[in-house]
Amino acid sequence: MRRQSDTVRGAAKRSPLPRRVVLAKLPHGGMQVKQRVPLAGLPRLAQVLAEPGGELAVELKLQVAGAGGPRLQASLSASLALRCSRCLQTFHWPLALQLDLRLVADADEERRWLAQDEPYLAAAGVLDMPRLIEDEVLLALPSVAHCRRDECLRRWQGVSY
Ligand SMILES: [Zn+2]
Repeated sequence: MRRQSDTVRGAAKRSPLPRRVVLAKLPHGGMQVKQRVPLAGLPRLAQVLAEPGGELAVELKLQVAGAGGPRLQASLSASLALRCSRCLQTFHWPLALQLDLRLVADADEERRWLAQDEPYLAAAGVLDMPRLIEDEVLLALPSVAHCRRDECLRRWQGVSY
């Protein structure tokens, strides 16, 4: 059922990412997703952001099992509102993340691939797409966030102009 507001605001493309992708049931050609995901729909990420609004642009390709698969390749970008740990002001941090992950079904398989590839555990061959996206974005966030405002840099680095 389509809600009225989706039609009015053209938000139909912002549907949620699938939470249950059974890798063994993917069509032969794999799966491609290109959509904008509201950050508010990723609760663990939303919790660390200084402001809740905004969207994550997701372009994602899932390849079925084969010599190198199943694999997930994705490009994620967003402007994330973080709090500067020096001046405590909100600033926008550009996220641009490229992923190339081998999807593994259990911890044994994960260990086996760790040395030569970047495995991601899709337990029992079922991929929770928003969870993967959120995990990877959280990993990519700076552990200490610093803005690039002139006054913030000057104050904390003692640089004078
Ligand atoms: Zn700052």
